[in-house]
This record gives sequence, C-alpha cells and structure tokens, in this order.
Amino acid sequence: MALAQRKEKYNYDKLQKRLRRNVGKAIADFNMIDEGDRVMVCLSGGADSYTMLDILQSLQRSAPVEFELIAVNLDQKQPGFPEHVLPNYLDELGIEYHILEEDTYSVVKRVIPENKTYCGLCSRLRRGIIYRFAKEQGYTKVALGHHRDDIIETLFLNMFFGGKLKSMPAKLLSDDGDNVVIRPLAYCAETDIKAYAEEKVFPIIPCTLCGSQDNMQRQKIKQMLTEWNKQNPGRTESIFSSIQNIVPSHLLDTDAFDFTNFGKKEGEQSLSSKDWLVAAQE
Ligand code: SF4
Repeated sequence: MALAQRKEKYNYDKLQKRLRRNVGKAIADFNMIDEGDRVMVCLSGGADSYTMLDILQSLQRSAPVEFELIAVNLDQKQPGFPEHVLPNYLDELGIEYHILEEDTYSVVKRVIPENKTYCGLCSRLRRGIIYRFAKEQGYTKVALGHHRDDIIETLFLNMFFGGKLKSMPAKLLSDDGDNVVIRPLAYCAETDIKAYAEEKVFPIIPCTLCGSQDNMQRQKIKQMLTEWNKQNPGRTESIFSSIQNIVPSHLLDTDAFDFTNFGKKEGEQSLSSKDWLVAAQE
C-alpha cells in the first residue's frame, strides 16, 4: 500500500474509532440501550442519520447487550424525493426497514404562508407520525441523529430567544409518555460526521427538496460559533463541557437549588420569601 493510501486509511480508522467511542460513551452515560431493546433508527437520508445507523450497526457487533436495529424513513412526499435511494441502500445492508409514506408536504404548504419557514410544523407532523409508528410496532427506543453541534446551537437558541438555559436532551420521554427517544450522536462533532459520510460515500438525499428557507436564527448561531471557534480554537468543546458540568448553586434558579434552607442551623426559622416581598414594597 502506498504511503498516501496508508495515511488516508489511518485517518479513516481514527475517525471511525472516535465516532464509535463517542457513541459508545453517550450510550453508556445516558443508559440509552438496554438488553432486548428494539431500536428504531430514524433515517432521513442526511449524513447524520446514515452515520448513526452505520456506527450503531458496528457497535451492535461488540455491544455488551443484545438489541435490534430497525431503520425507518418517512417519505413526506416532497417534490423530487428520490424514492429508490434508501430502499436500495438498506437492501444492500440487509437490515430490517420500513418506509412510511405521508404527504405532510402538502399540509405544510397549505397551512404556512410562502415567506415563512416550514420547519416547525413539518417537524411536529413528522414527530407525531414517527412516534405513533414506533408505538404500534412495539419499538422500545427511537433514535434520532442530532449531534453535539445541534445541541450547542439549541442551547444558544433557547438562551437568546426562549430565556431558558436548556438544550436538547440526549434521552427523553416523548410528550405523550409512550416513547423513549435517544440521541446516540450527542457527543459527536458535526465535522467528524460530515467527513465520515464523505469517506463512506453515503447516498445523501439533499434536504432542500421542500424549498423551505433555512432556520435563519439557527444559521446565525452556527456562524457565530464557527467564528468564535476560529478565533479561539477549543471554544466549542469548552461550551459543550459546560453543559456537562453545571453548578446550580452558582446560577439564579431558585427551583434548581434550595437557597432558602441553605446554611440554616437545625430548627432555625426565617421570614418566608413572601414576607420579604411584602416588606420590600412598603
Ligand atoms: S427543511 Fe424541509 S423537510 Fe426539513 S424540517 Fe424543514 S420543512 Fe421539513
């Protein structure tokens, strides 16, 4: 093997190992997959979901528990959606899969005015269909392909526009309480995922078929983070570490930390916060 080829192979192996390690760590940290789980892997045809399926399959071979993987794609009837791409890919993989067909595209087009972004309603409709299907089929986990950078962007979106210090959960119970949703790529960098998808030549389906504008605020935050990271390499990692190391006593949320009883001796009483508010208004 020529030197250049060996180097390329080495880099690819390193990239794959890093992705496997990050996915394995996320699964372990959040107890994402248990013995006997039937994991529905949501496949959109983008780099993220292909990478998620590929790495989960590779981990399945050495995992300490037995679990099933079932790939599911929702064909939302966007014009020009290449229907054959995913079935061809999945047939070759030899994995169990389902392609669901629901024309959410027409619904979104009808309801949302032309100049507005469709993504909010589109995602809600998609989520509803996917969760319902998972429940009907008895799948125990629903795996979504959001990654580290999605999580950081969401953190800033919520801070800037929602007044909340929260991001995207790595594991959650759906609103109706019927599905456990997991994000196995939670620790994976978008750059790694893109590089891996290129190396593996996944048959990517473009996500521009719906004609929706990008979520402008998310794009702006993405740019801001990219600029920051250029000026101060490592900043993205530092921000990500910060949400894994929170100190509620050093934030101002009185529900997240018991400031009322903090530092009191046993039996000691103090004015209630209501008394203080009344006194402050006099
Ligand atoms: S980009 Fe298109 S398909 Fe994707 S969520 Fe937005 S509207 Fe839906």
